[in-house]
Amino acid sequence: MSLSNLQEYLRPTHLEEALRLIGRASPRSRIVAGGTWVSAETPRDLEAVVDIGGLALNAITLEGAFWRLGATASLQALIESPAGTTLCNGVLGEAAMAMAGRSLRNRATLGGAIATADSVSPLVTALLACDAELSVATLKNDDLVMKRVGLRAFLGYRANLLEEGALITDIRLGVPSADSRAAYERVARTPRDYPIVCAVARCATRDGIAGNVRLALGGVAAAPIRIELAEFGLEKKRIADHIEHALGHGLEGLAPAGDWLGSADYRRAMARELSLRALMRCAT
Ligand SMILES: Cc1cc2nc3c(=O)[nH]c(=O)nc-3n(C[C@H](O)[C@H](O)[C@H](O)COP(=O)(O)OP(=O)(O)OC[C@H]3O[C@@H](n4cnc5c(N)ncnc54)[C@H](O)[C@@H]3O)c2cc1C
Repeated sequence: MSLSNLQEYLRPTHLEEALRLIGRASPRSRIVAGGTWVSAETPRDLEAVVDIGGLALNAITLEGAFWRLGATASLQALIESPAGTTLCNGVLGEAAMAMAGRSLRNRATLGGAIATADSVSPLVTALLACDAELSVATLKNDDLVMKRVGLRAFLGYRANLLEEGALITDIRLGVPSADSRAAYERVARTPRDYPIVCAVARCATRDGIAGNVRLALGGVAAAPIRIELAEFGLEKKRIADHIEHALGHGLEGLAPAGDWLGSADYRRAMARELSLRALMRCAT
């Protein structure tokens, strides 16, 4: 625990008020949602935390053709919701389950998981494969600005956006077509452990031909990534016939960093194997 310099704990009930508090030059403030990462990793010079738990951003609702997942909904709430059990044939719930043990899942929020975007985060990997979009709130000249941004784009600018005091309010996911299937694959030290590398694939198959192919990998870059060259190589094709070539091409430039859990070569090999398994499961 490194909150030794903390002077203020604030719990606003309005979004604009929260953004104003987060944006103050002094004291140095940070959003806190579930607090599981903040309490473990926060820099010592943090002076104020802005608890966003009072903003009523925790609903998980079906709105026509979209699911809206509130940013302060817990990982466990997603698992227990119809979105977790049915969306992308349950892959989102499965990925949220793989994030941590139950006590942590009860506290940790969807927004917190996205804002921290751990390299191998199963949930962020699954959300990437499901084409998630985020609603992000900022203040400009004291006016509330709401922007919708694709998760992939958000991950590219994450550090800057969060540094500027942006707040994720919800995650939006389209309800996939009835013939769409997704699959999660991972490798870990033990069956219940956090993955070393994970893959989520998704596609809609009609008469054996794949469409809307998505492939996302965790554990091979600083944050989860989409493998678009492989997706492109499989679009409107029979997956089994083209998978070797598409993965060879798509994973060619992968340059993971090795660590004590797995060398770069091991991660590259697992990325290929898990991608193959996930894509083949979707296609059959
Ligand atoms: C013992 C322990 C084990 C852990 N194990 C894992 C693990 O296995 N896998 C894993 O991925 N993580 C792990 N973590 C880290 C943490 O639990 C996750 O990253 C979690 O998803 C963070 O969610 P939270 O709601 O608790 O975020 P918080 O701790 O509240 O916040 C995390 C960061 O996100 C920012 N943030 C939160 N919500 C928003 C929002 N809506 N908009 C903008 N910024 C926001 C905060 O400012 C902060 O910088 C672990 C932590 C602990 C203490």
